[in-house]
Amino acid sequence: MLCKALLIDTFVDYPSEYNRYGFNSGLLALASHCINLNLPVIFKYHSEMFTKQNQSIDSLEKVLDTFQPDLALISSITAGWPSAIKISKTIKLHCPTTTIAVGGIFPTIAKSNMFYKSPYFDIIIIGEGELALQEILNTFLNTGVFPCGIITSKAFAPIPKIPFSIISEYSHLFPETPFPIENSRGCSSECEFCYLRDFKKAKRIKPQEDLLDELSRLDDYHVKTIRMVDDNFDITSPLFEQLLFSLSLFDFNVIIETRLDYLSSIIIEKLRKAGISEVIYGVEHIDERILQSMKKTRTDNLRHWEKRAISVTKIMDDFGIMAHPIFMLGWPSESDTSLNIIKQLACDLGSLKSVEPFVSFATPHPGSLFQRTKLSSFTSIAKDLRKYIHILPVAIPKSLGGEALFKLIEAHNSIRIQSNMTYRNPTISIDDVTNYWNYDDELTSCYVIQPSGDMDNAIKDAP
Ligand code: SF4
Repeated sequence: MLCKALLIDTFVDYPSEYNRYGFNSGLLALASHCINLNLPVIFKYHSEMFTKQNQSIDSLEKVLDTFQPDLALISSITAGWPSAIKISKTIKLHCPTTTIAVGGIFPTIAKSNMFYKSPYFDIIIIGEGELALQEILNTFLNTGVFPCGIITSKAFAPIPKIPFSIISEYSHLFPETPFPIENSRGCSSECEFCYLRDFKKAKRIKPQEDLLDELSRLDDYHVKTIRMVDDNFDITSPLFEQLLFSLSLFDFNVIIETRLDYLSSIIIEKLRKAGISEVIYGVEHIDERILQSMKKTRTDNLRHWEKRAISVTKIMDDFGIMAHPIFMLGWPSESDTSLNIIKQLACDLGSLKSVEPFVSFATPHPGSLFQRTKLSSFTSIAKDLRKYIHILPVAIPKSLGGEALFKLIEAHNSIRIQSNMTYRNPTISIDDVTNYWNYDDELTSCYVIQPSGDMDNAIKDAP
């Protein structure tokens, strides 16, 4: 028996093309795991983001009509959930016999509650999907019938080597799209706002010979930029030097995301030599009380955090590496003073030549540990799941008092304008935000638990 499986990445409505990600690394890993096991499965990849960006890519309807999948596997983050539901309706219309499975960060965080809200899904995968998909496919291949219901992954597969057969048809269409490479999974830190607290991934590293092979295949495909999508690019790993050596053998632009406290002048110089061109790192805040509440770093690091953020960013600027320090606004204990100091630091660093600060808003994803533990700290939370993209405010901390939303938007816009970042992320207005705050329909707001209070209080004195 043979199985045809369609991997589907959802649409997320980002405000600019710079926020649009490329291939869904989770779906690539799932298919790779099964291909490496030689399961008799034909995989096809479809991205709703890509179809919006390139007219020559077949629509989902056309793919369904021609491919006629036995299994459709949808991966969704919170903001992609309305798209996931639309996709599942389309599948049921075009291919009523196709079994639909959904997984990814949002289903894992929201867990089984969502199952009853979404009649189109036959299977919900909670947690990492490789072993769950293997089980689903083996059941079908042995019995001709797919299992149904909730499948929770309790074990962890090794990080699979990507065989590329699935993406070769797309690589020539998106040569500029950073290709995701996953060298490790998991993180030993436990930042309060991080989705990994819900995911609980075991720490693993890909065999370095597999990584080298992937890099050389990407080079053959003329891919220009790769993005290391490790949960946390672990510079402290014993395999770090080997990884840098492998990267230095090629001419890729490499984007990494790591921790501020891993970076030093010696490390940054090594990164530059290996071809790392952009580094994203979470400063988040410099207010010690907030950093402590975020559990961002060890207590003995708190006092030096601001100094480190400044020196690391300046060194990166000197080396000509594009630095993206991330600053988080709207933490549950944010005050006027703390908001002002973080805004000022982001504006100052953003005026350096090779520095583009990223602004993120504290985002309590529905069902997440962060949302459950901090819910009472917010006066109001936006209902529209499509806006849970971290670069728009969706939660108003009580600690900011009156005009809280106005203050958050003003800080955001100042950083964007003063660091010349509006080309990448436009400024936002109170009207933009109020328009989506209470947006209410079955698709977009199926899951948000509303805290008490309302938004009027947060914006009452805003102009
Ligand atoms: S260091 Fe990064 S990946 Fe690790 S828990 Fe914190 S935010 Fe998440």
